Amino acid sequence: MKILVVEDETKTGTYLKQGLIEAGFVVDLTANGLDGLHLALTEAYDLAILDVMLPGIDGWQVLQGIRRAGKDMPVLFLTARDQVEDRVKGLELGADDYLVKPFAFSELLARVRTLLRRGGKAKESELLRASDLELDLLRRRVNRAGKRIDLTAKEFALLELLLRRQGEVLPRSLIASQVWDMNFDSDTNVIEVAIKRLRVKIDDGFEPKLIRTVRGMGYVLEVID
Ligand code: CA
Repeated sequence: MKILVVEDETKTGTYLKQGLIEAGFVVDLTANGLDGLHLALTEAYDLAILDVMLPGIDGWQVLQGIRRAGKDMPVLFLTARDQVEDRVKGLELGADDYLVKPFAFSELLARVRTLLRRGGKAKESELLRASDLELDLLRRRVNRAGKRIDLTAKEFALLELLLRRQGEVLPRSLIASQVWDMNFDSDTNVIEVAIKRLRVKIDDGFEPKLIRTVRGMGYVLEVID
């Protein structure tokens, strides 16, 4: 899942980016409102986090631009000002949530996850399933045949992507951009390594095997009896 952060305070921006990356997200950070809007309109994000006071154009204008372009990604505002007028203005413009600075990162992460569950894919279940494998988006847990499986943040993000697009062959380039925020480089085997580790965890000792390699194309998660 990809998140856009527009925040001009270097310290806050870096802290947010780092925390979100550690939580398994792919993050683009910019300090300028105009750059933020440009990114929001040209890249595919699952969510945007906007500061209000920004160089270029302010957070409100970024939000307006996003909504005018018909983009319905959830938008979370960060603001030092907690006046009622600000909240009302933001909600009228189509913001989905607010967080007043200073905030605890755990609080931000909880809001982000709630918005991602609510946003976009309407009435999405909190559970993703394939055969007897279950991924719980809310509790960040994975079970297979009732057995708890521990995954790293990246493995979780990778499995989430495979499950969301079940039955679809996902090219390495797509996996690279969605899970690692890198452009596919044929020299790197980071994806193969991660797939291998994920397979050991979710397929070893279980039937049917869920993750398949499609030679020369990519990977697919599907249930084949
Ligand atoms: Ca600011």
